[in-house]
Amino acid sequence: MIKTFADLELDQNIVEAIEELGFTRPTQIQADAIPQALDGRDVLASAPTGTGKTAAFAIPALQYLQDFPRKKAGPARILILTPTRELAMQVADQTRALGKNSRLNVITITGGVQYQEHADILAQTQDIVVATPGRLLEYIDAERFDCRAIEWLILDEADRMLDMGFGPVVDRLSAECRWRKQTLLFSATLEGKGVEGFTEDLLKDPVEVSAEPSRRERKKISQWYHRADTLEHKNELLKKILTEQSEKAIVFVKTRERLAELRTELERAQIVCAWIQGEMPQDRRNNAISRFRSGEVNVLLATDVAARGIDIPDVSHVINYDMPRSADVYLHRIGRTARAGKKGSAISLVEAHDQPMIERVSRYVDEEIKERYIKDMRPQHKKPVFKKKKKKEADKKTTAKKSAKKKK
Ligand code: ADP
Ligand code: MG
Repeated sequence: MIKTFADLELDQNIVEAIEELGFTRPTQIQADAIPQALDGRDVLASAPTGTGKTAAFAIPALQYLQDFPRKKAGPARILILTPTRELAMQVADQTRALGKNSRLNVITITGGVQYQEHADILAQTQDIVVATPGRLLEYIDAERFDCRAIEWLILDEADRMLDMGFGPVVDRLSAECRWRKQTLLFSATLEGKGVEGFTEDLLKDPVEVSAEPSRRERKKISQWYHRADTLEHKNELLKKILTEQSEKAIVFVKTRERLAELRTELERAQIVCAWIQGEMPQDRRNNAISRFRSGEVNVLLATDVAARGIDIPDVSHVINYDMPRSADVYLHRIGRTARAGKKGSAISLVEAHDQPMIERVSRYVDEEIKERYIKDMRPQHKKPVFKKKKKKEADKKTTAKKSAKKKK
């Protein structure tokens, strides 16, 4: 049983870097996956968002490179694929932090960077390359990147990569890296379309580690909701929460249009916020995230697309200004708070038509999500009751109602 980082028998320089990051003990997924990876096995790993998957592959990767040091300068030995640029940068940052006492090079190759810049980087020796699939494949096709020396292929957020349509590109990259020794695949879930077939082709006789987060990692998110009568009422509730309850909040909004409206609304109330949305220039997006990360602003508005895979530490509140489309997205959203043992709150603002969704979410997370009230801001309407009816019955009812109306 692995309980401490010492149990993992890592090199001292890595242990020191881990301590400097403030990690005191491995999370469940780290305890389960690291020994297997160091044993030379392919690993198929799943664990919820925020449970330390990055270090679960970065630590063994660094240890491996130290166990088998390169004899001469040359191309990359470990390739990590991530679905988005932001995530690639975060993974690279964390890997660099863990490898700071080693002499290993970690570089990123993503879209949104000048080709020349990459050419300079690729001319040097690299040990670990963190890349998004699309751009990397371009370089391979142009023979500017050499995969033949790759010994480990690591896929982070495999489910997201599939969702985003990277399946075929990843398959091609896997073929390019066919001389590799090991493959590690990490994902929040292993369910969902195509994950199974996808993993079959990529991994050889993998050990499956599927970490239920330990008690210590779980259950630290308090979830509740407020009912809102109208959009105005919802805005008032949000402003109240942002000014009086939350320290650092991500507010999820359905669409870019809604996000723009909300921004204006908050500006009017002098609540300073940053925002990210899909199709936003890279530098502006980075800028927004770093302002939020540094604490210059404590409110980040985001659409689901934009927030994919971004690690924003120390979020005290996740606020569902708009309810997500599915319970699964809800889980992804709230996974951004209470990371690795910290406490967090997830608050949903629920309009009448959202009532079925919050109830579905409640069943999905298998926990009662309670309604709360804010003084003087109670909803005026009664909680709508949606009963599951068989279609025919429902039809009958409406016709009955219609005829009743006619009679009047
Ligand atoms: P995931 O990829 O599972 O969503 P991350 O790897 O992004 O999670 O980690 C989430 C947060 O937890 C990060 O801020 C990371 O620094 C922190 N973290 C990772 N491992 C540990 C640990 N063993 N102890 C404490 N914090 C950790
Ligand atoms: Mg991750």
